[in-house]
Amino acid sequence: MPISTYAISIGSNRPGRHGRPEAEVSAAIGALTGVVAVAPIIASAPIGPSIRRFANTAILVETKDDPPALLARLKAIERDFGRRRGRRWGARVIDLDIILWSGGSWGEAGLTVPHIGFRARGFVLDPLARIAADWRDPVTGLSVRQLAYRLRAVDQRASRP
Ligand code: AMP
Repeated sequence: MPISTYAISIGSNRPGRHGRPEAEVSAAIGALTGVVAVAPIIASAPIGPSIRRFANTAILVETKDDPPALLARLKAIERDFGRRRGRRWGARVIDLDIILWSGGSWGEAGLTVPHIGFRARGFVLDPLARIAADWRDPVTGLSVRQLAYRLRAVDQRASRP
C-alpha cells in the first residue's frame, strides 16, 4: 500500500484518565503516528440525550495503512481510552472517525469512507476546513470549504423566523 492521507475527526464529551475532554482529544492525537496537521480544538453543543459538551477537532494522518487497518488502530485507541459502548449518542471518552481518504472511496466490511454523516456535521466540517479546506469530497465533488459553507447556509435558513 503506498502512503496515503486520511482526514480523521476526533471528539470527546466525557472526562477520562487524561482529564477534561480537550485533554482526551490531545492525548488521542499523541497516541497516533503519522499526524501531519492538527486543527484547533472547538467546543460544540451535544447531540441527543447527552447533556455534556463535546470537544472536537480534525487531523490529517499519513500512513501506509489501508482504511480497515487504520480503523483497527483507531478502535484500539478508543478501547484503550475507555469508551463505553451501547448508547449511540451517549457520553464517550473518545470517538475517532475516518472522514476522507486520499485514495477516494471505500465501502466494505462495515466501513464507509467518506464517512456517511460528515456533510451534515459542523463539528466535523469546521475544524477540517482549517486544515484541508480544498480537499474534495469524491461523492459530491464539493470541497470541505464548500460543504462547511453549505451547511452554515442551511442552518441559517432553518433558524430564520
Ligand atoms: P460510532 O459508534 O458511531 O462511532 O460507530 C462506530 C462504527 O462505525 C465502527 O465500528 C465502524 O465499523 C463503523 N464505521 C463505518 N464507517 C466508519 C468511518 N468512516 N469511520 C469510523 N467508523 C466507521
